[in-house]
Amino acid sequence: MTYLFDPPPQAALPVAGSDKLFPVHRIYCVGRNYAEHTREMGHDPDKEPPFFFQKNPDCLVTDGVFPYPAASEDVHWELELVAALHSGGVDIAEADALSHVCGYAVGLDMTRRDLQGVAKKLGRPWEVGKAFEKSAPCTGITPVATCGHLERGRIWLAVNGEKRQDSVLEKMIWSIPQQIAYLSSLFELRAGDLIFTGTPEGVSACKRGDVLVGHVDGLQELEVRVV
Ligand code: MN
Repeated sequence: MTYLFDPPPQAALPVAGSDKLFPVHRIYCVGRNYAEHTREMGHDPDKEPPFFFQKNPDCLVTDGVFPYPAASEDVHWELELVAALHSGGVDIAEADALSHVCGYAVGLDMTRRDLQGVAKKLGRPWEVGKAFEKSAPCTGITPVATCGHLERGRIWLAVNGEKRQDSVLEKMIWSIPQQIAYLSSLFELRAGDLIFTGTPEGVSACKRGDVLVGHVDGLQELEVRVV
């Protein structure tokens, strides 16, 4: 048997300091994982279990160019630490969770906030707000052997040289091991999965011409131009 047409290319991220590529299976994103961001979005951080949505692997952008998307006039940045899994499973114990993480990256969960707002109001899925083309700019992956596991440290986003998000990883409500344990009770996690681990406060709208620089201590910086 042959394919009816050529299969799409495998989505992948470069691995820093190596000629290898990390083949991407799924992209999971946690919502409202920093208390101040939860509040700025109008919710109470003390009253919610974690929840997740997905982006598609082909939403990833690795060339530093984010084309302003169609159908929105309110596209927000959300800078996030990204965990990359080289193995997975179901019902992973919190104590074993980090053994599945092979590296980390810096990513942007770009969001059509106006369309997401309509979806929330009508009880509809979030794909139109979250999983549009090129909605996931991301750096390459820094291996754990180089950066260690990232449980504390600065996370910030500068827009045109001005800090707009500035927090620390230890303010995550759900730690990365907790996210992996919880996700693996709902889905079978696999090698190649990425987890966008939530954004701190300071989300706001970008415009064409903006330069977004995202930083997490220990990782290569993400630089993205909105065009
Ligand atoms: Mn997000």
